[in-house]
Amino acid sequence: MATAQRVPVLVIGGGIGGLAAARAMSLKGRKVHVIEQAPEFSEIGAGLQLAPNALRALERLQVLDEVRADAVFPRQLLMLDAVSGERITTVPIGEAFKERYGHPYAVMHRTDLHAHLLNACRESPLVTLENNRAVVDITDEGEAALVRCADGSTYHADLVVGADGLHSRTRKLLGDDAPPVCEEYVAYRGTVPMAQMTELAGNDSMVGWIGPEMHLVQYPVRRGELFNQVAVFRSHNYKPDSDDWGTVEELEAKFTPLHRLVRASLETIGRDRRWAMYDRPPLDSWVRGRIVLLGDAAHPMLQYLAQGACQALEDAVCLAEFLDRSLNDTDAGLRRYQDARRVHTARVQLTARFFGEVCHATGVAAMFRNSLFRLRDPEDYRLFDWLYGHDPLAAEKESDSQAVNWLRHRSPGTNAVTPYPG
Ligand SMILES: Cc1cc2nc3c(=O)[nH]c(=O)nc-3n(C[C@H](O)[C@H](O)[C@H](O)COP(=O)(O)OP(=O)(O)OC[C@H]3O[C@@H](n4cnc5c(N)ncnc54)[C@H](O)[C@@H]3O)c2cc1C
Repeated sequence: MATAQRVPVLVIGGGIGGLAAARAMSLKGRKVHVIEQAPEFSEIGAGLQLAPNALRALERLQVLDEVRADAVFPRQLLMLDAVSGERITTVPIGEAFKERYGHPYAVMHRTDLHAHLLNACRESPLVTLENNRAVVDITDEGEAALVRCADGSTYHADLVVGADGLHSRTRKLLGDDAPPVCEEYVAYRGTVPMAQMTELAGNDSMVGWIGPEMHLVQYPVRRGELFNQVAVFRSHNYKPDSDDWGTVEELEAKFTPLHRLVRASLETIGRDRRWAMYDRPPLDSWVRGRIVLLGDAAHPMLQYLAQGACQALEDAVCLAEFLDRSLNDTDAGLRRYQDARRVHTARVQLTARFFGEVCHATGVAAMFRNSLFRLRDPEDYRLFDWLYGHDPLAAEKESDSQAVNWLRHRSPGTNAVTPYPG
């Protein structure tokens, strides 16, 4: 075996979470080595919603000005019934919203966010970035870890951050060998030039059409030049270990009976690739020795609250801060990071699942949902406080009491944690 390269901090994975972690730690003066399996650092997919909690993290990562230049800041979140076209509820996200949470709600192209994080890492002499390094083996050595890649390169690291996404190899080492949970839903998504947008959509609104076992999200990205659409539906042909379900034909059959504006969107939605929807149940421990999880590797969630990347950004800021606050005691820093993040992200994961069920309700349940949502005062933001108002750096004590609450509500036999009312 080749001699292992000694590195103080090794981040596995150069997605949004991994790059944000590298950026955050470099801002605290740490040398960080990022390894990525792909031949290039890049993102696939289309748009990304960034709630105020993500912008708070991006401000701490000192990339907020760059992000602002490419993002769009809609005036309202609009929820519409995908069958009847009626307005269900609106959340104004202008000045009052910004004042409450300290930041607005942004939407942007995910490649733009990734590029800004990458540039920030490249500009730092403390960050080293390497591609074509697919990690195949990680050994916990107590106060260090040995990481081996498919090409034979090996690293001996004082700290390993597993930011290797949904199918994380690092997570397996922490005791979760189960496959991700497939929700039997798929997404088709992509961007088109703004000129091809349908009515109701535009730079002003983030539109969410919800209907029986489906939803469609539409919003502008890249300074308003492109229009992003994500069409999601449940397939009744789900087959484990097969890609032959959630097909384009099923997408068309599902969307054809819906409101004319939803149908119209079908013509412009990318069909070359589909994304199956997965999550995992919350994990009890994120740390083993000097190996720690971050982002989707730690808490993969359904995208229904649009929070996966937002939470990864919060993780990054939090990990760097608690390692720093714990001075030379890495174990204490990792414990504080885990304590601050585990319960909150579990709540986001499980609320995302629940919110998906609400959005995808059928029949009487959908009617009941619509009438309840219509009663909502648009300016009443209290429902969002726990998520958008959450400051992970100020939340250490709060997390402890939340943990107790979560444990009290744990559903027996399901390994699930029931969210308590926000
Ligand atoms: C349809 C859809 C819409 C979404 N919309 C939103 C949204 O609006 N807002 C939001 O906040 N979130 C959203 N998300 C979630 C968000 O995309 C993810 O939570 C986020 O990208 C996770 O980032 P990550 O860096 O943790 O993981 P990833 O982006 O998966 O990055 C992991 C990286 O690790 C690398 N890697 C994996 N294994 C290895 C290995 N063995 N060796 C080396 N490298 C490895 C991968 O190549 C990859 O680059 C959405 C998700 C989907 C599917």
